[in-house]
Amino acid sequence: MSVEKRKPVLVIGLGRFGAAVALTLERMGHEVLGADVNARRVQEFAPELTKVVEADCTQTGTLENLGVADFEAAVVAIGSDIEASVLSVLALSDLGLTNIWAKAVNQKHARILERTGAHHVVFPEQRMGERVAHLLNERLLDFISFGSEFAIARLAAPERIVGLPLVTSECRKKYNVTVVGVKRRDEDFIHAVPDTIIFPEDELVVSGRIDDIERFSAI
Ligand code: ATP
Repeated sequence: MSVEKRKPVLVIGLGRFGAAVALTLERMGHEVLGADVNARRVQEFAPELTKVVEADCTQTGTLENLGVADFEAAVVAIGSDIEASVLSVLALSDLGLTNIWAKAVNQKHARILERTGAHHVVFPEQRMGERVAHLLNERLLDFISFGSEFAIARLAAPERIVGLPLVTSECRKKYNVTVVGVKRRDEDFIHAVPDTIIFPEDELVVSGRIDDIERFSAI
């Protein structure tokens, strides 16, 4: 479920993850209410977010007083204190929020969050660890996976398709990947079309199964 542009979002916990979420939402034009029990964190982010409050967000009453029952979306970004994370999700759920995101530190934590009412559970450290592992393959420049099998990656054009239009290299048929976009040095990305010719220093955006993308990057 996406958050409508400019609708206010509550971010509970302004650690590294919560702060990144809050600051990005703010830059995207949302009103962000940041909440943290730690006064120093509150002070640090007061100049950058729409509103910042010092509050223990595990209590339904506290959240109600902050007026968050009217919020559509909230992000619970507490990791190390699992009890506080779960109670915050429960309180938001009791208030009827329909778009609750929460960060989990392990699978058990995730299961409890889902049972307590989180609509989306994310594992930032685990996801980043997986990405780094794929990026260690030097030919992949960027990598986003969807589930354990499918991904979109940015990679240097493999030698074997350089100099050919995409229709001739038949990437989908031969390598089981789709070339979605092409970036030429000093130019913007363009959508790939059948007669796009690949040059030696081009970067490609391709989609496909993870193992197919890894194989394609090495041809
Ligand atoms: P990160 O990796 O994102 O830095 P973390 O998991 O190391 O996060 P945590 O200790 O989980 O850090 O806390 C993230 C933030 O959540 C901290 O700033 C902390 O003060 C805040 N926090 C913890 N408990 C509560 C609570 N009950 N209500 C509001 N904020 C809280």
